[in-house]
Amino acid sequence: MNQKPSVVQILKSVPKVLTSDSRIMALLRHDALTYSSEASFDQITRLLQLSLDMEMVAISLIGDDKQMLKARQGLDLAQCSRETAFCNIAIRAYEPLVIEDTHRDARVRDNPFVTGSPFLRSYIGAPLTTADGYNLGTICAFDSKPRHFIPRDFDIVRTCAELVMNQLELRSQANLDFLTNVYNRRSFVSGLDRELARLRRSKGTAVLAFLDIDHFKRINDTFGHPVGDRVLRELAEVVTGQCRQTDLVARLGGEEFAVLLMDSDLDTAKLWADRMRKQVAESRFDGSNAIKLTVSLGLAEFGETQTTSDAITHMADSALYEAKRLGRNRVFAS
Ligand code: GH3
Ligand code: MG
Ligand code: MG
Repeated sequence: MNQKPSVVQILKSVPKVLTSDSRIMALLRHDALTYSSEASFDQITRLLQLSLDMEMVAISLIGDDKQMLKARQGLDLAQCSRETAFCNIAIRAYEPLVIEDTHRDARVRDNPFVTGSPFLRSYIGAPLTTADGYNLGTICAFDSKPRHFIPRDFDIVRTCAELVMNQLELRSQANLDFLTNVYNRRSFVSGLDRELARLRRSKGTAVLAFLDIDHFKRINDTFGHPVGDRVLRELAEVVTGQCRQTDLVARLGGEEFAVLLMDSDLDTAKLWADRMRKQVAESRFDGSNAIKLTVSLGLAEFGETQTTSDAITHMADSALYEAKRLGRNRVFAS
């Protein structure tokens, strides 16, 4: 598990590579790309608008190639390309970015939102930094008049960024399983629904894998529940280690995990599942206890056809049941 850097470490270092997959994953982990306007975010942007007396305020999230503007005040624009985003400059530092007059700043003088509507003249934006040092975007304010900013304005926008991050962190905690730190059932269900919707638009397939520890009850009975808990945590790490960053790993409950293998097919998934099965069988859990265990996996492929998440879940569950029935420590694909 990564140690979180202290605030001082974060401020001293350069923000993590902006285009890296990790930053995008941090965005997704915070559910930030999908959240719609919500009262708490609207309240923060409204407060910033009133405090600074600026015309336009938004929470800006920088995705791979675009900027999304959420909780907007006085602004119609919902998204624009990343290159034209002021915030694309602001996320390169951990301190607020200020532009007092866009006409005198070579970085933005030719920006289409300066030369055209809404004719932006001034800007202040503070980065939205996660606890592990990723800048997801900014909270920012614009005006059509030049503006001289004072230190108090920096404090205000910085505090608003902290409020936004508190909200996002709370949301991301609610998505994680408290014991293993992988996603919980709730976010697994919404992740599955999201992937289904995506596959309906793009032709492709994904695979749902259910993984269940064989005879886990024996481990609890032999070593006690706290050891069982440690085994579950370590197993979650082994499982995550076998997955790509884009795969969704969740603990559904007890000793049962689910992995949503994005953009995969059944043949590829079978090879992956067998590697996973072997990796678990070869691992030793709980330090000096060196506990051995095996897992069974059930796989179900789904694609653009109108399958429901319930139907896919049922398929993977039946496949897992078959793997158990056939003797455990095996993969069954339905
Ligand atoms: P099978 O091979 O059929 O899956 O057998 P099993 O023993 O793994 O399955 P069973 O469903 O009979 O028992 C699962 C056990 O998992 C029972 C319960 O004590 C244990 N368990 C469930 N949740 C937790 C947990 O959070 N921590 C620990 N330590 N044990 C848990
Ligand atoms: Mg089990
Ligand atoms: Mg079970």
